[in-house]
Amino acid sequence: MTKKIRCSFFEKNEVNVNPDGQVYPCCFFANTLYLTKQFGYPSAGDIPLRNIDSTSIQNGLQNSESIAVGVIDNNPIFKDYVKNEADYNLDNKSIKEILDSDWFSDLEKARETWETAPQVCKNWCTVK
Ligand code: SF4
Repeated sequence: MTKKIRCSFFEKNEVNVNPDGQVYPCCFFANTLYLTKQFGYPSAGDIPLRNIDSTSIQNGLQNSESIAVGVIDNNPIFKDYVKNEADYNLDNKSIKEILDSDWFSDLEKARETWETAPQVCKNWCTVK
């Protein structure tokens, strides 16, 4: 059976708006990109890697840092968003301008087939 992407946010005409006005297509993008931002992408952040108890909060932060950087490095669509993120913030553009932007249009087109969809969509929104 062919795999497809089913975008529940798009179907309901919803997007994710963070408290700082940043507009994302959904919470999966928002959480990943917000986390990445906290860890200083594109630098690797400044929390030194340490050999610590795997159940500690510090270890969780450490893992989050490396995951955030790796996720962005492996996902061109995230990189493109970060590069122009000011253009997707309600402080700078209207919601219409943001949703009509090339980035949102390209994402919509990429989701049309499973093969061309971003990895984050494949991970969370694949249906058969
Ligand atoms: S991960 Fe992709 S398909 Fe899933 S809700 Fe977000 S934009 Fe839509």
